[in-house]
Amino acid sequence: MKITNVETFLLDVPLKQKAITDSQTRLESVEFVAVRLDTDEGITGWGFNWNYTKGMRAVQTVIEDNYAPLLKGRDPLEHKNLMRDLFYTNHFIGRVGITQVGLCAVDLALWDIRLKLANQPLWKYLGSCKTKVKAYNTDGGWLSWTTDELIQDMSSIIDRGFDAVKMKLGRPDPREDYERVKAVRKALGDDVKLMVDVNTVWDLKTAITWGRRLEEFNIEWLEEPMHPFDKKAHAELAHRLDVPIAVGETIYTKYDFRDYIEMGAVDIVQADCTKLSGIDEWLDVAALGRCYNLEVIPHTNVQQKLHVQLAAVTSNAPMVEYCYESLLDIWENPIKVIDGYYTLPEEPGLGCKFTNKVLEDYRIG
Ligand code: MG
Repeated sequence: MKITNVETFLLDVPLKQKAITDSQTRLESVEFVAVRLDTDEGITGWGFNWNYTKGMRAVQTVIEDNYAPLLKGRDPLEHKNLMRDLFYTNHFIGRVGITQVGLCAVDLALWDIRLKLANQPLWKYLGSCKTKVKAYNTDGGWLSWTTDELIQDMSSIIDRGFDAVKMKLGRPDPREDYERVKAVRKALGDDVKLMVDVNTVWDLKTAITWGRRLEEFNIEWLEEPMHPFDKKAHAELAHRLDVPIAVGETIYTKYDFRDYIEMGAVDIVQADCTKLSGIDEWLDVAALGRCYNLEVIPHTNVQQKLHVQLAAVTSNAPMVEYCYESLLDIWENPIKVIDGYYTLPEEPGLGCKFTNKVLEDYRIG
């Protein structure tokens, strides 16, 4: 089999809900790059990657200029050799960030070809340990909500069958964060799992002070409290606090996860396949977590179908984030959550192809 053509699609897909904010970002739409690999045997592979803000045009350029020439004419089943060759073409322009986001999109398209050839979805191909996957809901709890909106929002999520929710922190005055968590915990009661997410904006002193104060509200985990490159600060924080520390959505390599884990700087490993180089590296990180008896709970917003399948083959992945419900139907055969559990996709392939309508209506490049 040979790859005959590489096509990319730059998309800007608006949210079907009012703009939302965390401590770093105000979000009205999501940018995507979709990658289509055609083969001489008629099998087509689809991959993608995404960003909350602009910048995916740079990813598209890397795929077209650096990766496409190396892919054309090659056998897609030579998957690992191809990934090695694409990785090394980035030698002086960056091994993570934009280059890696593009690399993952290609990896997903190569997996899609392999799975379509095997006529199976990913989770069946790899061998599953679950038939459904628990969802925890982060499609609420935004920083821009008033406390009343926050409580109403979180309560309605619980009424729909979820028993675990996450809310955003990182207001300029941490006392406001404290009061908001207090109000939400009181409204939800003690039986709901409540997580909090700072999106990296605290320094170590703030994280120690306010992380400790928040422990009185029985927080399930404190997510991304500080700059993700500062492993030493996370190790210090994890040592000082009882609440588990969660990181992963802005960590790009298995080596960084290894260092976080060995330093005792992380309790909940939130590895995101779309920020790593793809499926194999995600599985490596999950295995690493298993060696240290750590849970891997992948960061997810638009990439649920991918992470649900990875969680289904991973014994130490107890649940997957559920977010951006308004964008679920951008994918063909959209995934569902029933009574707080994801169903698993049945169609052969990776299942990460946008609908033709989305590819046509929101294409900007
Ligand atoms: Mg987060």
